Amino acid sequence: MGSNLLLELQGVAKSFRSADGAPLRVLDNINFSLAEGEIVALLGKSGSGKSTLLRIMAGLLEADAGKAAYRGHSINGPALGVAMVFQSFALFPWLTVQQNVELGLEAQGVSAARREQRADAMLELIGLAGFGGALPRELSGGMRQRVGIARALVTNPDVLLMDEAFSALDVLTGETLRDDILELWGSRKIPTKGILIVSHNIEEAVMMADRIVILSSSPGRIRSEIQIDLARPRSADATEVRALIDEVYGLMTLRQPQGAPAGGVAAQHPGYRLPDTNVSHMAGVVDLLAGAPFNGHADLPQLAEKAELPDEVLFPAYEALGLLGLAHVEKGDIALTPLGRRYAGAEQTLRQEIFGQQLLMHVALAARIREKLEQEATGRLPEKPFLELLEEFLKADEAKHVLEVAIEWGRYGEVYEYDFHTGLLKLPDQE
Ligand code: ADP
Ligand code: MG
Repeated sequence: MGSNLLLELQGVAKSFRSADGAPLRVLDNINFSLAEGEIVALLGKSGSGKSTLLRIMAGLLEADAGKAAYRGHSINGPALGVAMVFQSFALFPWLTVQQNVELGLEAQGVSAARREQRADAMLELIGLAGFGGALPRELSGGMRQRVGIARALVTNPDVLLMDEAFSALDVLTGETLRDDILELWGSRKIPTKGILIVSHNIEEAVMMADRIVILSSSPGRIRSEIQIDLARPRSADATEVRALIDEVYGLMTLRQPQGAPAGGVAAQHPGYRLPDTNVSHMAGVVDLLAGAPFNGHADLPQLAEKAELPDEVLFPAYEALGLLGLAHVEKGDIALTPLGRRYAGAEQTLRQEIFGQQLLMHVALAARIREKLEQEATGRLPEKPFLELLEEFLKADEAKHVLEVAIEWGRYGEVYEYDFHTGLLKLPDQE
């Protein structure tokens, strides 16, 4: 490749330690580049390693293997020229807006007078003129994120990395900010040569990017890439945009091997990260899908529109329904299975029964909990050993979360009960 590459990653891998010390591979053999003039969007499920990848590019984290370079120089430590914006804003609450923005320059040894000048100019550009003296808490979420962006842009970065920078904002605020960034980029009011955004939002990715890269999970690998040759600004209603959104939905819901273990529940990896969803979201999707106008079959973008819920809520629900055999998700469509239709038409008790039966058949963790409880004379067990099993493969807080999900599903399916005070799991009473 030529010399217009801003970032280049070759064979990058990264592992972390799980709670019990075993290495956990988060990224595997990542080959990626960001060229001058490009906006690239990185999509992937929660936990697939998107933030880790960005942190490697920003020089905040070192890869275990492979090469990561910025303009041909291997990255070791934060590179001048690469700036990052975080979802959480990451502003210092005791510093004013102006001081927060200047921070980016202080690290570069820019003189105080020059810092002030540049921060002023940047606040003006980003729509915060007059707010320099305010404290972050006096601003709305959208304005706070503008400060976060100003702090990154004031360094005149070559590369801007944005980690879910719009996802903590309400939809309209997020869209306005996104459009403003695109305007700054398109009109070259900022010298930035390449932007990489991490997003949960497929429409956002299609509206912004020249290229979309989709990461698979456990471990994160680049699964597909899609080029977008549409001029900006784009209209969300344009036929080409809708078609691309459909296509990306399709790529995001290609069957992933881990969702449906070939050897049945016994073959499911014990560290399998259960989709982060709850019974009411699942039931909500089933009900919506069963009713008019879908009658059991929907195009995901249309379902999302009707559901009025964001992708990050809907995707785990789709995945769970697929896992439990209640729906079939493929290539951007979702359809109820015959069993899913029965569930949709059933009364509460039958619903719970169907759910419980599917849970035991398709979720190894739930099956294991049930089996161990049946082996106990008292029908009771502390949750701890199950947590410890999960911790062999997951970080402590994730292990806890996966167990919480399994408990919520199991209680609904009346597969087991759980006492929140004692942390005891037990068999349901009437058995
Ligand atoms: P994403 O941004 O796609 O949601 P992350 O990159 O944040 O994913 O995390 C990917 C995986 O790596 C998760 O399982 C997460 O728990 C784990 N992970 C991230 N940072 C660390 C860390 N510092 N120590 C241990 N595990 C980590
Ligand atoms: Mg992240």
